[in-house]
Parts: sequence; structure tokens; C-alpha cells
Amino acid sequence: MSAHFPPTDTPSARLSGVSLSYPKGGEVLRSLDWTLLPGQVVGLLGRNGAGKTTLLETLLGLREPQRGQVTLFGQPAAVIDDAARARIGYVPQSSDLFEAFTPAQLLAYFRSFYPHWNEAKADGLLSRWDIARDKPIRKLSGGQQQRLSIIRALAHEPDLLVLDEPVAGLDPVGRRDFLRELVEQVLDRGTTVVFSTHILSDLERVAFNVAFLSQGQIALQAPLDELLEQVRAFTGGVTEMAMLMARLGAEPLKRTPLDAGRERVLARLPAGTAAPHEAEAVNLEDLFAELT
Ligand code: ADP
Repeated sequence: MSAHFPPTDTPSARLSGVSLSYPKGGEVLRSLDWTLLPGQVVGLLGRNGAGKTTLLETLLGLREPQRGQVTLFGQPAAVIDDAARARIGYVPQSSDLFEAFTPAQLLAYFRSFYPHWNEAKADGLLSRWDIARDKPIRKLSGGQQQRLSIIRALAHEPDLLVLDEPVAGLDPVGRRDFLRELVEQVLDRGTTVVFSTHILSDLERVAFNVAFLSQGQIALQAPLDELLEQVRAFTGGVTEMAMLMARLGAEPLKRTPLDAGRERVLARLPAGTAAPHEAEAVNLEDLFAELT
């Protein structure tokens, strides 16, 4: 029996018009649209409480939105079959690893559930990330437990890897190197990767695409280098700004009213356009502050 999968241009995950509120809470996701294409590596950026965990759980079909559609590999996320489920690796923020098990026992246990399990990869990563194979998991540090949880997700060679704040337990120095190494583990397989973080510097030289979650929507998603090249700030009179945007064919991302009928506009220039002299360069920190 051979598994039959949709063609590879089918999005790994797609959310259309998704809205979700918690009982007694406000609306966390507001008519949100988001598509993850095969092979994309996306950093999901948002402030604490912006809804990143909620979004990732909804994307995985673990939470049912009140409105909208979610598909995974083209199937409705709430009812995907086992074959599609086996193509997904998920590392929640805090995993309930079986604490009395040793890492070796834990991995042997999970191995039995997956048709593809790369023993050599799991074994290599245990050594590389300095995780004792035969020590009870409860005696490992928080960072080691987090890395073990990531090894578990990598070992079954998922086509879609979802990581919720994967470096939260690591110290600031090692975070980016570790993320880069993590992404390198799956690059050659063309795995779609999405990981959330509220720390901007985690993304530099790691995520090729950045998605900003703000006010329940993906405010912007684009390749990181394009964003830095194309996003500029402009300041001037409201009418003058409207004319300038039209002339440049720029897409306004955020307008902030200033006094005396002036405004500051954050805008994305079309690819390949030279930035006009009145444009102000925007670094990633500013972008994050303005868009989230
Ligand atoms: P993030 O991962 O970006 O920090 P979350 O998705 O965890 O954000 O939370 C988004 C908002 O939803 C927060 O205001 C949080 O308090 C609320 N929230 C999260 N989970 C629940 C829940 N199970 N019940 C009620 N409110 C929740």
C-alpha cells in the first residue's frame, strides 16, 4: 500500500478567515489568513500574549476556531488522517516528557509510532547536544529537556515542523546558533518550518521569512532580507504622503498621525525600486516595534 499525498505545491498549512476567542476572553485571532508553502522557514514574531501559541495550536488542528478554515497538506486540520499526522512534528512550549524515562527510552517509545524514524539522526543529535542517554529525564536541565523534545520531533523526519518558542529555555548567547543548527537539520529535506519567538534577534540569519502577528492577524509576511531592503519610513503632510505612495507604488503598512496635518508612514517599496532620498531606513527593531 502506498501513501497518496497531494502534489507538493499544496500548502503545508493554510488558514483562511480564522477567528478564535476564548470563553470570557477577547478575540485572539481575527479573520486571520496565513499560508505556509512547502519548504518555507518562517519565524513567527509577536509580543507576549499576541496569540502565537493559540495560532500554532489552531494551525495544527488542536484548537477549533469559531470561524474560518484550516487545512494541513490540503486536508481539513480537524480531521486529518494518520498518514498526514505522521508528517507533522510539533514541539510545544512545555512538553510533558515522561520524566521517569531516560532519553533513550523516550525515543524508543516514540519510534514505534512513526513510519519514518531516523535513528542515526536522533543518536547523533543526542551526542551533539550533550544529552545523557541513560539519565532520568527529570534530572536533565530545562534546556536539555527542550532539546530532547526537539530531537523527538526531528527524528521522524516531518514535512512540517512547528516549534513554539523553541529557544525559550536557552541562554541568550546560544539561542541563535542553536536555531540555525536546528534549521540546518531540515533544510536538505525541504521541511516547512515555523517557529515562534518574541525575541527579534533570534531571527537574524535563521528565518528566511518573518511573519508578524499583531492584533489577531498576520500583519506582514516577507523574506527578511527583502523587508530590510524594501521597508522605509516617510514623514510629511497627509496629502503629500498619499501622492508619494501612489507615485512610488508603495504599500503603506502603518500610518502614525503627527501634529499639524503631518504623518509618518511605514511603507513597503516595490522590489527593485531605489529608495528616494526622503526615505528613512528602518531596522528590524523599529519594524517589530511598529508592526506588533
Ligand atoms: P503568545 O503565545 O503570543 O504569548 P497566547 O496564544 O498564549 O499568546 O495567548 C493569547 C491570549 O489568549 C492571551 O491574552 C492569553 O491570556 C489568552 N489565552 C491563552 N490561552 C487561553 C485559554 N486556554 N483560555 C483563555 N485565555 C487564553
